[in-house]
Amino acid sequence: MKNNLVIQILFAFVLAIVLGAIVGPDLEIVQPLGDLFLRLIQFIIVPLVLSSLVVGVASTGNLKELGQLSFKTVSYYMVTTAIAISIGLFFGTLFSPGTGVDIDVSSNPSVEAQETPGIKDTLLNIVPTNPIAALTDGNMLQIIFFAIFLGIGITMVGEKARPLYQLFEQLAEVMYKITGVVMRFAPIGIFGLIAPTVGEYGLAVLWPLLKVILALLIGSLVHVLIVYSLSVKYLGKMSPIVFFKNIMPVAMVAFSTSSSSGTLPMTIKYTEEQLKVPRKISSFVLPLGATINMNGTALYQGVCVLFVAQYFGMNLTFVDQLTVVLTATLASIGTAGVPSAGLIMLSMVMTSIGLPLEGIALLAGIDRILDMIRTSVNVLGDASAAVVVSSKERNQTEPENQEEEYAAVHY
Ligand code: ASP
Repeated sequence: MKNNLVIQILFAFVLAIVLGAIVGPDLEIVQPLGDLFLRLIQFIIVPLVLSSLVVGVASTGNLKELGQLSFKTVSYYMVTTAIAISIGLFFGTLFSPGTGVDIDVSSNPSVEAQETPGIKDTLLNIVPTNPIAALTDGNMLQIIFFAIFLGIGITMVGEKARPLYQLFEQLAEVMYKITGVVMRFAPIGIFGLIAPTVGEYGLAVLWPLLKVILALLIGSLVHVLIVYSLSVKYLGKMSPIVFFKNIMPVAMVAFSTSSSSGTLPMTIKYTEEQLKVPRKISSFVLPLGATINMNGTALYQGVCVLFVAQYFGMNLTFVDQLTVVLTATLASIGTAGVPSAGLIMLSMVMTSIGLPLEGIALLAGIDRILDMIRTSVNVLGDASAAVVVSSKERNQTEPENQEEEYAAVHY
């Protein structure tokens, strides 16, 4: 059944690309299938993140363990994010995508550079003044903040709060089941998302910016194949082949939906079921990662900053590049796991080194393509973190009876 689904997804993917290339923009008629799939996965997100993160936090049992788990998780996220930006800056320099580009910035008047809140407000905004409003608005960072504190509160209260813990546990369980049902629709949904995209983007749109796409694509491949392979192999004690083979469908859903949050239910399901990451770990690491860990977005920001600087003939000093590493780390944390969020946050990074915001308009035309690439990397990064952290936490978390299952995918 499971293999079947993977094959169906692969088939849908290939079919969508072939048909998209042959039929062209008329394939827009299948878009509602894609939109339906998006809506189906979106309705799972808020209750799933809330319940699974509360359970993830509270099930560590004591605050010291929680502290260690958070430290390992956040350290992994920060280090891989900084590496990703550096790779982005490197390929942005190597490919020089912004030199010789023949597009008029004002040719895209519909896209306006948007104001981003700035670093201080981005940080302050993490704290919800009204958690219920955060839930209804789907504000992920705020929901995470609330969920972590609820989990801590439940841990501190102890026995008396047990029913509340169980309630969240049951809600999470139900949401995982629903995910399984929705996932069966994935092949059709993916077809509905990919085919119109391929049909819509002709070579004429992509050609002038092909070097940006290539820089991002090759940088992403380097990041994924080197950084994640090494991490899962040496820190996670898992063969990279096992990792990539089992997580492939999730990367495809990320690629099709351009949303880490939207993909989250599948990321949790596959890391648990295929990569044998204990729920205790996955339900903490993954919702957090889907919101704050965006390696692909960070890499993209590195490439794009150089693209815009080259386009406007500006040179970036070493200090500028260092500033980019710092602000892009923050910007990638503040980027919501939804389509195009990274494009908006890019303006925060550009402002930090005084680049003209009009550069955003240049990139907006191809953002959908860039978004597909960066979201896949974002999600793979989260899954690799789950494998790494679960291996580090293993002695404290794994019940004996799961020994065999674990051994099947680990050294
Ligand atoms: N779409 C990306 C994601 O969901 C965020 C971004 O736009 O960079 O991970």
